[in-house]
Parts: sequence; structure tokens; C-alpha cells
Amino acid sequence: MRHILRRSRKRVNRRLVRPIPLFYNVAVTAVALPVFGPVESLSAPNPLASETGPRDIRAVRTLRISVTDRCNFRCVYCMPEEKIDWLPRETLLSYEEIAAVVRAAVRHGIGGFKLTGGEPLVRHDLPALVALLRGVPGVRELSMTTNGALLDEYAAPLKAAGLDRLTVSLDTMDPDRFRAITRGADIRRVWAGIRAAVAAGFRHPKINCVAMRGINDDEYAAFARLTIDHDATVRFIEYMPLGRTALGGEYEQRFIAETDIRARIEAALGPLTPADHDAGHGPACVFRLADPRGDGHPGRGRIGFISAMSKPFCSTCNRLRLTAEGQLRSCLFDGGEVELRPILRGEPLRPATHDALGDSNSIADALHAAFIRCVAFKPEVHGYYGNRQMSQIGG
Ligand code: SAM
Ligand code: SF4
Repeated sequence: MRHILRRSRKRVNRRLVRPIPLFYNVAVTAVALPVFGPVESLSAPNPLASETGPRDIRAVRTLRISVTDRCNFRCVYCMPEEKIDWLPRETLLSYEEIAAVVRAAVRHGIGGFKLTGGEPLVRHDLPALVALLRGVPGVRELSMTTNGALLDEYAAPLKAAGLDRLTVSLDTMDPDRFRAITRGADIRRVWAGIRAAVAAGFRHPKINCVAMRGINDDEYAAFARLTIDHDATVRFIEYMPLGRTALGGEYEQRFIAETDIRARIEAALGPLTPADHDAGHGPACVFRLADPRGDGHPGRGRIGFISAMSKPFCSTCNRLRLTAEGQLRSCLFDGGEVELRPILRGEPLRPATHDALGDSNSIADALHAAFIRCVAFKPEVHGYYGNRQMSQIGG
């Protein structure tokens, strides 16, 4: 199936790189979501972060793990179309090395782990990594963010291996627009993937939608409408200026803030009302449609906003990131990071890292110390521009 996707992308690429006119005035069909159930999660804000500050390792609740920088899509806001310098395979952390980092995280009380990328499912035998991490004592919640295109093949094996939750990215519900945004992918594969995920027993998948003015800003109400009858969560992510992307040069033109997204939803479906922040929405502010049917009852599902640009949430940030090549990163935007690969492979450390890690007697101790070093890099408020795109860091 991967080959089919790759081939189809190549075939349509050239025709579809006329991005902007294509995005306007496409009729959007609302799609019925499968029924989802409730879920528990670790990724809600940690109250400790407001007491200790985000630079205290005790405030960290989740580690986002990028397993690859590669992807079977080329979303216009995430990647350049070509001339991508993929990481050499030997530089990627092996599954055993990732598990060693996870063990170090668990020693700090971090219990939530999200697999991401690039597209995590293009890495060979991802269920094997899930099974490995599931076996690490102290791993409480294992989740994954995916573009969904390979989920129909992998949903059941992932569930069997012990994955708890899934987030699927979907920026439009229109097939042509989807093909344009992803530079060639077929939205039917994503819907098939979501159906397979529900059939495999994943309850309550979240949908991530990156909001982009002039690209999908006529669809927010349609996305929000999905939450009227389904216990699903749709999260609108403010577009962030990260690295080299096709839309990078027109960032200001494409950016749309939470207030504007929300106004469009409320104009069509009435007011939003705050929802409990108890079910795994990470940095998102979460709402429900207050009375979308006019019967005095709120919508079943939730609507989240991840507004890193208009409302940076750095002071309560509860996460660290592990890149595919083994940098432990403090923030998506700012480059404060610690190189873990030399520690894992017994290679010489940079002098600064060496000094920071002190006299660790083992790889496990050095990794443990590296977490404390990394969290100290967390910024007060992140900078405006991130030098590496999301797919390289692990979104
Ligand atoms: N390939 C998987 C996917 O698309 O879900 C996982 C990796 S992707 C980098 C993780 C999330 O980051 C996706 O929801 C994607 O839409 C989002 N993303 C990527 N680049 C972004 C940007 N510049 N601003 C905001 N969100 C972005
Ligand atoms: Fe790939 Fe996800 Fe980036 Fe799209 S957003 S190019 S699917 S990594």
C-alpha cells in the first residue's frame, strides 16, 4: 500500500502545486464519524507546572517521540515538496534505544508517551516498538499521532501491541482539497483508517486540523458539527512558522488565530461552552457546542484549540520531545536540546553535555541526568519562528 501512495503522490505532484486558487470555493460534505467512547489521559496540564514552573522535571508529564522524519504525505504547511534531506537511517534511534530513553523518562515519573514523526507508520514494524514500550514498567499511556493513511493495515496490530489512543490529522474533508494540501494523498485512505481504528477498539480518536486562512477556513463549522452527535474531539491547531515549508513565505497571510476560528464556528453553530479539562487534551483549551440542536443540551464531543501563536502556553507546558535521531528537545520552537545518541552509543559527548551530565556511572544514569539538563532549556515564552519543521522534531 505504501508503494501505491508513493506512486500516486508522484503522479499528481506536478499538477497540484498550484496551491492557492485550488483551495477556494470547494463544497464540503460533512462526513459521519463512527461512535467513540470516553477516554482517560495523562496529558492534561500538570498542576505542578504552575507551582514549580515548567523547568522542573516533575512538571513534565509526556514525552513525544518522533520515530522517523519520513512521511508518505507532503503537506504544504509541514514539508517542502522536494530536496528534502532525509536523515540517514543509521542515525535514527533503534527501538531498543528509544526504549532506553523511555525507561529514563519513567524514572522521572513521566508516564505518557506519544509516537509521532514524520509519519510514524512508515517506520518498519511500528507495532513492535509499541509492544516493547508497553512492556516498560511505569509507561501508563501510549498514544500516536498519524496521518491515518496506513491505519487500515496497522490499527488492529497497534491495538494488539498495546497502543491506547490515536490522533488522526485531517485538515479538510474535501477530497480534492485534501489531495492539494497533502500533495497527492487520497482522503478515502484516511477515512478507511479511522474506520479500522474504531473497529480495532480505539475509542475516541482525536482529529487534528491545522487552521490556514484561505485554505480551509470555510470548513471549521463543518468540523465542529462532527462533535454534535459524536463523542469525538476535534482540535484546531494554529499554524506555526516552523522550518522550510511551501507556505512559509506567506505565513502571515495564512495564519488564522483561535478567536477567528472560534467566531466562525459560533456564527454557524452558536456559542461554545468550556468543557472539563480531564480527558487528555494536552495544551488544548477545550469546549463543547453549548446548544447546537436548540434543545438545551450541549454537543456530545469536544472542540479544542491549540493556540501556540496567539496564546503561548509555555508556562504550563508539560512535555519534552525526542527527535528521531535522538535529540531530547525542550520546545518545538527554541533549540534547547541535549544529544542522547552519543550517550546511547557510547560515543564522545560534546563538552557542554559532558559537563552537564557529571559523573554518571551508566547509560541509564546519564539519560536520567539528560532529562534534567533538557528541561532547564525550556523558554519563558517561545520565539516567533522555529528553525526546524514539525516533521523533523516530532509534532
Ligand atoms: N504525520 C503525522 C500526522 O500528520 O499526524 C504525525 C506528525 S505531524 C508533524 C503532527 C501534527 O503536526 C499534525 O497534526 C500536523 O498537522 C501538525 N503540524 C505540522 N506542521 C505544522 C505547523 N507548521 N503548524 C501547526 N501544526 C503543524
Ligand atoms: Fe507528513 Fe504529518 Fe507533516 Fe503531513 S503533517 S507532511 S502527514 S508529517
